[in-house]
Amino acid sequence: MNLDKILKELAGDHQELKIMEVCGTHTSSIFKNGIRSLLSPEIRLISGPGCPVCVTPASYIDKAIEWALTPNCVLLTFGDMMKVPGSEKSLSEAKADGARVEIMYSPQEALKKAAANPELTYVIACVGFETTIPSYALVIEQTERSGLTNIKFLTALRKVMPALDFICATDNEISAFIAPGHVSTILGSQAYADLAEQYMKPFAVAGFEGEHILIAIYDLVKQVENHKHEVHNLYPSVVKPEGNAVALAYISNYFESGPAFWRGIGVIEDSGLYLNQKYRKYDAGSADLAGDAAQKTTNCRCGEVILGKINPDECPMFGKACTPAKAQGPCMVSSEGTCGIWFRFTKK
Ligand code: SF4
Ligand code: SF4
Repeated sequence: MNLDKILKELAGDHQELKIMEVCGTHTSSIFKNGIRSLLSPEIRLISGPGCPVCVTPASYIDKAIEWALTPNCVLLTFGDMMKVPGSEKSLSEAKADGARVEIMYSPQEALKKAAANPELTYVIACVGFETTIPSYALVIEQTERSGLTNIKFLTALRKVMPALDFICATDNEISAFIAPGHVSTILGSQAYADLAEQYMKPFAVAGFEGEHILIAIYDLVKQVENHKHEVHNLYPSVVKPEGNAVALAYISNYFESGPAFWRGIGVIEDSGLYLNQKYRKYDAGSADLAGDAAQKTTNCRCGEVILGKINPDECPMFGKACTPAKAQGPCMVSSEGTCGIWFRFTKK
């Protein structure tokens, strides 16, 4: 079927349905391409927990700041973590107050820095889903080989599947899922088969162009309307059914699963990855943050945003008390956080 026909059908009459795009990059593309305006009002697109920055708990930021304030320690982080609020302050505010925080462009930089400055300990802030976890595993391998003892890893690594399972188990209203494209390259399209079967929800793995997303929405609408719940891989040039075996082996060589706290959601069993026994000597206290309950109570409604229960503009602070320049919650901070994307595209 050609795109014109798909567009015509999607704009026509449908039963009410809610489709969750799990990944922030899909949300961004949906806005960039004006996809919502092309759909019948009955087809509602909602965003999911697809940004690891957004779900990183405040206690993780607090711990990172603690390391950055420890004498002879340097915290290395990607720039997108700098403005995420901790329980008192962000890394950026802590740095302004004298904490030793450096922005990295690749975690590999730690190896050079640690070799050049043996008197300092470098703590790498490792935040991410399956897409980025293998790159941290590689640095652990290189650290072990190099014999350096002044590198540590503070991990907030999250697995997407347990979060999707949690959403399926707690929300009956979601009709279908656009599966995250990047994560699917690692996990493989077949990873969604059990969830599709158990909860009777269709999944479509989609690329990131507007056309890719429209085709995925069309596929899911048709599946729902025909009472199907299959997994369709609509991005086969990049995503294989079995995923990336090398990356998966890397992950399981270095990490083991455990409970993890998702900001705004709570603890999800088995959704975190922690350095396993063999490599735990490099850990910077990550497992202690698994049951974080000490979240500051704020009016931020990120939890509802990342579970697709409300749109960002339904949060009373959106665009007022909360903007990218003065974010009140992590969803407004990250370039792929849902509130940040909505702000960029609707508040110009
Ligand atoms: S911004 Fe980075 S962290 Fe957030 S969804 Fe995208 S890839 Fe993930
Ligand atoms: S607009 Fe700001 S305060 Fe409201 S949910 Fe989003 S990040 Fe949280």
